[in-house]
Amino acid sequence: MTSLSELKNFLSLPKNITITAHRNPDGDAVGASLALAHYLKKQNHDVSVVLPSEYPESLFWMKGIHDILVYDTEEKQALDKIERAELFFCLDFNSLDRIDKAGEAMLKNKNAKIVTIDHHLYPEGFSDLLISDPQASSTCEMIYTFITDLGDADLIDHTIGDCLYTGILTDTGSFKYSTSSRLFRVVADLLDRGVDDYHLQNLIFNSMTEKQLRLLGHCLNNRMEIIPEYSTGIITLTKEDYANFDIKRGDTEGIINNLLRLKEVDVAAFIMEQPTIVKISLRSKDDISVQELAQKHFRGGGHKNAAGGASFHNLTATVNKFKEILPLYFQKKTFH
Ligand code: 5GP
Ligand code: MN
Repeated sequence: MTSLSELKNFLSLPKNITITAHRNPDGDAVGASLALAHYLKKQNHDVSVVLPSEYPESLFWMKGIHDILVYDTEEKQALDKIERAELFFCLDFNSLDRIDKAGEAMLKNKNAKIVTIDHHLYPEGFSDLLISDPQASSTCEMIYTFITDLGDADLIDHTIGDCLYTGILTDTGSFKYSTSSRLFRVVADLLDRGVDDYHLQNLIFNSMTEKQLRLLGHCLNNRMEIIPEYSTGIITLTKEDYANFDIKRGDTEGIINNLLRLKEVDVAAFIMEQPTIVKISLRSKDDISVQELAQKHFRGGGHKNAAGGASFHNLTATVNKFKEILPLYFQKKTFH
């Protein structure tokens, strides 16, 4: 299966389909998975969503989210769905290491075809059909295009629309990044199909817990460092911060974007001391890319303006390493 028309043929009879997306799934990964699942179920396919790790609590309101199987905690059921699949959809990731053991299990199932729909740079070649668009704001925008290209725009109801809109809102930071005229056309159509923009913005952005807002204050007040010569801002979180604030999955979402609100910051880094690794998130403005830095130095990758990776050194060593490589990528500014 190497074309959309072959896929359309394949989908003309009910199939066992397993959808997966990247580890630490965000609004786009979960939104795209659920939107595609709702769409395929409408056509009588037997559809499961298997994610490598837990989805954030802030998305619990999404329809169908509690049917998702989490590989980390429900390995047996997840493996069963992977072994029985006749078709896999890989969403919002470009390399198999982003889904860990689920990827190994998927490759063992030789009977199934793999379709990837993704907007990250430099997708690896593990799919039978690769639909890649690094210009797209989000995988959710691509799922909208995918469904319309299959001639099924009429099946996009407000449940599917809510899921798609969630990924678009979260991956664009509420229309601050990666926007295009095409995206706004997609969004206009979703609103015409019954998506309630105001309600979703409130569910997604105005639903913080007090702890999360205080953690943001702590990060900005006590953990932020600005390096003016390299127009760079860094926020770090220590193991003690994790314990003191009882930081859980999703609590640190969006903190890094605050660094970009500074006029003098073009590159932002959020470096977190997690139990077994030090996780690094990167953001940048305009034409400045953080993708290569993440890939070459932190075993990661992503997009031009949003990338990430990990380090196996301690927090201080990781921060120092990041500071040392800044001159390799970014122009030094001089001040008079
Ligand atoms: P975030 O900083 O929100 O975790 O991720 C930003 C972007 O970088 C996302 O598109 C994500 O897929 C990518 N990214 C984050 N961490 C990693 C990683 O460890 N490996 C790879 N390949 N991409 C990552
Ligand atoms: Mn995405």
